[in-house]
Amino acid sequence: MTNFFSGNTHFLPGIFYLGPMSISNTLKERAAGACEICGAASDSLQAFAVPTRSADSDEHCVAICEVCLQFLQQKNYADANHFRNLVGAIWSEVPAVKVMAYKLLNQLSKESWAAEALDAAYLDESEMLWAQSEDAAEADRIIHKDAYGVVLEAGDTVLLTENLNVKGANFIAPKGTKVPKIRLVPDNAEQIEGKIEGSTIVILTKFVRKSN
Ligand SMILES: [Zn+2]
Repeated sequence: MTNFFSGNTHFLPGIFYLGPMSISNTLKERAAGACEICGAASDSLQAFAVPTRSADSDEHCVAICEVCLQFLQQKNYADANHFRNLVGAIWSEVPAVKVMAYKLLNQLSKESWAAEALDAAYLDESEMLWAQSEDAAEADRIIHKDAYGVVLEAGDTVLLTENLNVKGANFIAPKGTKVPKIRLVPDNAEQIEGKIEGSTIVILTKFVRKSN
């Protein structure tokens, strides 16, 4: 068996894998010339790693057509009828196909046929964990928010909402002080770093307001 994947194809949470789309012969044979998502015949099928697995194994991938690939990359599910085939795909014996079908049917669950297919679907425990892993990864992501719940990003400017006693530097930064170009403390959602009067200090997010 030939493996066409480069091996450095890590999945980033919340982002569909967009890297090289070559397809192994095994996967090609499994798909038998038809997109495993929409069912359309295609001679240019590509491997798509089902999040949050990476494309290091055919078992983690579905073989999809170019139309489906585009929709998935853009997270565009507006053309619900394109995905009608999922009603059958959710019963696939291939876990990757089943899991991808489940994830997509969830995106389409406003459609009654999709909701019905989901109701009838059966995923075993490991398949269900796989299907939910992308949302779980997203939920685990550390998000920094200001005192009003506004999401903060690196480089933002914030204003202090309280007088801040800057320990070590021995001064008080008054409420309303502007802190430009903040840095987010990576493993702590409650802390950012910023410069006040030349000193870089850690500031609690609950004491800042994002400035426009
Ligand atoms: Zn397709």
